[in-house]
Amino acid sequence: SAAEAGLYTATDQLLPLSPDNVEPLLINSTAAVLVEFYASWCGHCIAFSPVYKRLARDIKEWKPAVDLAAIDCAAEENRKVCTAFGIKAYPTIKFFHAYSKADSKGQSFRASTHEVWVLRHRIIDKLESHEEPWPPACPPLEPTSQAEIDSFFETNNVQHLALIFEDATSYIGREVTLDLLQFENVAVRRVLSTEEGLVTKLGVTEFPSCYLYSAGGNFTRLKVNIEARAFYSYALQALPGVRRSGKPPPVAAGVVTNHTQEPWKPFNRSRVYMADLESTLHYSLRVELAAHTVIKGGALTSLREYVSVLAKYFPGRPVVTNLLKSLNAWLQNQTGDEISYEALREILDNTAQSPNTALPEGERWVACQGSQPHFRRYPCGMWSLFHVLTVQAKDAGGTDPKEVLSAMRSYVHSFFGCRACAEHFEVMAEESLVEVDTLSSAVLWLWSRHNRVNNRLAGALSEDPNFPKVQWPSPEMCPGCHSVKDNGEHRWSQPQVLPFLMSYFSSSSILADHLE
Ligand code: FAD
Repeated sequence: SAAEAGLYTATDQLLPLSPDNVEPLLINSTAAVLVEFYASWCGHCIAFSPVYKRLARDIKEWKPAVDLAAIDCAAEENRKVCTAFGIKAYPTIKFFHAYSKADSKGQSFRASTHEVWVLRHRIIDKLESHEEPWPPACPPLEPTSQAEIDSFFETNNVQHLALIFEDATSYIGREVTLDLLQFENVAVRRVLSTEEGLVTKLGVTEFPSCYLYSAGGNFTRLKVNIEARAFYSYALQALPGVRRSGKPPPVAAGVVTNHTQEPWKPFNRSRVYMADLESTLHYSLRVELAAHTVIKGGALTSLREYVSVLAKYFPGRPVVTNLLKSLNAWLQNQTGDEISYEALREILDNTAQSPNTALPEGERWVACQGSQPHFRRYPCGMWSLFHVLTVQAKDAGGTDPKEVLSAMRSYVHSFFGCRACAEHFEVMAEESLVEVDTLSSAVLWLWSRHNRVNNRLAGALSEDPNFPKVQWPSPEMCPGCHSVKDNGEHRWSQPQVLPFLMSYFSSSSILADHLE
């Protein structure tokens, strides 16, 4: 499509505008929409596109209130639309209020910055300038008062009211309000530091700070490492009873059944389990590969690369690593330009040769169990396997920084059954795999791309309500991994993230429970 040919792709969380969808998306829509009119050949647009993508990721939770869109005015088929909106220079950004009229040309929106936070604040200013009708999904953004709070639980059926005390110039309260708009059982309001009654009543001395008010009348300070937007949003989304709207209520862990008659296996949520890794190998080698009766050409190269990194780095039990080594040796010895899956399967299953060589049959998911059979499992295991392999390669002092990631890319490209996943992953690899130049950067690359995927999938139908997609690891899991820049923007502290990953995925921390 034209959108694909332009500066953005389907994975960018932006609505691609075209003559076909411009009306339904911009006119009389229930959400406000920010639109970038660009030309794919324009240097400023090219320079701005990563900023716009970052903005889209940053405010993806705000979509029901304000969505982001883009249209390539250089594409022949889009010219009429761009002319109709009076676009003469690129990029031009326009803000369309919710319920914009058919003749609306949008309001001008200053984009003269590459700072995501400045753009985000301008979006809030625009939202606040909304005349009636207000976008229905957008919660109130104005400061609250003692009177509203006193009667809050009479009119609002939520468990928690989060009050963010802040100075009038701060945007944090409004940002967190919007970050939580797709979550049930929690409401967020900002309270200005000048609201003396409440400030005195609670003894608030720090601005910003966040207090939870419950229906029982109790106020408690929300505990966070740093008083900043990202920390409030993480903490509020994780409160008991808070969940994404429209999701079935999660069943308490322990009583969850996975509907396959198998009893739920209790597990430690902050550990990696060998049972998941072995199940992933089983599924990949015996189920996914079996779909290819003959493996040749690029697929055969992919298979060789994959099995070679498994043989080198899989930190398994001796029976399993022996098997991977013989499989690898066999594959390297095949001189023809194709192999049959059946021949490979014989090596996999022929344990008679050597009784110390075997890949256990069947799937035994533990940390990758899903609350329903269609949740988690194999893709969860695939991610875990590759995180483990990048970490092992670094521990083992591998020589090629891209070895594991290239093998993953090839495997996913040639064999991963989720074809949409494979396409998305290929886009990311194409975009930035070249940046990987050390074994450490390989570990971090996979972590940050996985978070990119988590960001895109948060709230998707495929998300297990018991395992919400968050930017990982949460501050609870790794406090040191999170920090803020001078301007209060969230920043990953990479010098802390790397050792966290090295330890989390290291062979010595992998648990052997639930192996047969
Ligand atoms: P997963 O995302 O599978 O993560 C598994 C475990 O890894 C988590 O439980 C957590 O312990 C840990 N973890 C989470 N984030 C990180 C991180 N950043 N770094 C290190 N460890 C982390 N699904 C789609 O719908 N669309 C797609 O485009 C898509 N692309 C995919 C591409 C690949 C290469 C893979 C392997 C999977 C893809 N999936 C896609 C599936 C999706 O990413 C999840 O795997 C699936 O929804 C199951 O989610 P989960 O809750 O088990 O967590």
